Amino acid sequence: MPRRFFSGPPSPEEFQRQLTDFMRQHFQTLGGRAPAHSDSVGSSEDPPARSSEADFHFDKKPRDVKAYLDRFVIKQQEAKKVLSVAMCDHYHQVRLAIAGKEQPNYTKQNIILIGPTGVGKTYLIRSVAELIGVPFVKGDATKFSETGYVGGDVEDLVRELLRRADGDVERAQYGIIYIDEIDKIAAASRHSGRDVSGRGVQTNLLKLMEETEVPARSPQDIAGQVQALMEMSQRGKKSASVINTKHILFIVSGAFDGLEKVVQRRLREASIGFAAKGHSLDESKCLEQVATRDFIDFGFEPEFIGRLPVRVVCQPLSIEDLFSILRTSEGSIIRQYEQTFAAYGIEVLFTDEGLRQIATLAAEEQTGARGLMTVCERVFREFKYELPSTNVRRFVVTRELVDNPIAELQRLLSEHVREEREFSRQLVYEYATRFFESHGLKLQFTESAVESLISLAHEKSLSVRDLCAEKFKDFQFGLKLIAQNTGQREFVLDANATLAPDKVLSDWVVASYRETGTRGKWVKAN
Ligand code: ADP
Repeated sequence: MPRRFFSGPPSPEEFQRQLTDFMRQHFQTLGGRAPAHSDSVGSSEDPPARSSEADFHFDKKPRDVKAYLDRFVIKQQEAKKVLSVAMCDHYHQVRLAIAGKEQPNYTKQNIILIGPTGVGKTYLIRSVAELIGVPFVKGDATKFSETGYVGGDVEDLVRELLRRADGDVERAQYGIIYIDEIDKIAAASRHSGRDVSGRGVQTNLLKLMEETEVPARSPQDIAGQVQALMEMSQRGKKSASVINTKHILFIVSGAFDGLEKVVQRRLREASIGFAAKGHSLDESKCLEQVATRDFIDFGFEPEFIGRLPVRVVCQPLSIEDLFSILRTSEGSIIRQYEQTFAAYGIEVLFTDEGLRQIATLAAEEQTGARGLMTVCERVFREFKYELPSTNVRRFVVTRELVDNPIAELQRLLSEHVREEREFSRQLVYEYATRFFESHGLKLQFTESAVESLISLAHEKSLSVRDLCAEKFKDFQFGLKLIAQNTGQREFVLDANATLAPDKVLSDWVVASYRETGTRGKWVKAN
């Protein structure tokens, strides 16, 4: 059942739940960093917050920021530039504010990021937050509702930021809040005719983006209130109870499906009368010319859009871009796979044609770079399961492997078995050679004897060398006797001799006392 917060007292179950949360959080906090709440609005991928003692230093230039982003984020050149400039503007302003030299009429550089899924929007912001060392929280606009509680309240994002900043209110106050799927709250009021909750959520977000004070503990958060009381009794003073949102940077993003049509229509209308007849406007280029009016036509409140002055468009990723992500991005998923296999002592070599095929299949998923993860998971699933339990120590990712992983895995495994058998075969011959060198007696293993020894060694998980030493430990004595009796110095061992060596040897020895000539399996020397 969704949690519902009304002004009345909580249900006994809710009270119990909050208290349990509190106990867990409180006691873990004593031992270290407070864990993120289970209903955290942020994602687990978020960067860890720095220690609260760290002072805020910011001396980066837009080119520095872009150079850093280039290491991780492929393509999106324009987005990286605009973002770098906006980030530098904002954090220089924060630095001035901290020094008490704030510009009075500064407009905060909140950002709208437009682009399809999986093209690096979150990745850009997460990387920037990491570089600057500020807390970062990601939320989803569709989770918020205006009044009643569906999944969360916009103010929870601010409180989450405080948690990410280890409770350091000052650091939380210049963190980054990133809200995805913002287009959905515009579309909500656009399509239904009646405002479902989109406008209300926009109004709530607007308040945050301007300047407001958010209580550090939700009034409905009983656990939080109890903790505040405990802190007060422990430290004798009340901890900072509000977070000011003035310097929190807000970034909203979405795919904005249909926005290009809105822009196109406006551009077309504007060009009427300017000899534009027959002139067609390229849809993909339209978004770069998006204006405030287009967002309003799309279904946003003018005040809301007015608070988001920086507009950044992220481009869809081509096969070639996906290939570059795999090959050159420092965050490439390929590194992850290399490490996973390396943990089992297995080396993986990715060929370019293998990577290109992964990129090609990923593009078909139409989920941007997320498709790379889907494809890799599919391709390497069985390899991850099977290989760690084998002696395979390396494999090469070719195009064939990507196209047909199961068949290639089978081939790899059977090739490996073949190689192992060949190696074991050499060990049997080596045993015979050493036996000859030590005792002057020649052992000749038949093909079936070699096969039998290899299978037995495999069954007993022994090396063939150890197995031979164990099986034929008495042969040096027995065969020497035979040699004395008969002059025989060369012996043929068949599968039977590998299965019941002692019996075979004793039969031979007994026979040697009776025999003077060649008999049975004996081969007389000379
Ligand atoms: P979205 O645009 O939906 O926010 P993300 O930024 O979450 O997509 O991308 C998902 C993952 O795909 C990232 O964590 C990153 O590993 C990879 N990725 C996406 N776009 C790029 C890119 N342009 N360059 C490098 N990696 C990328």
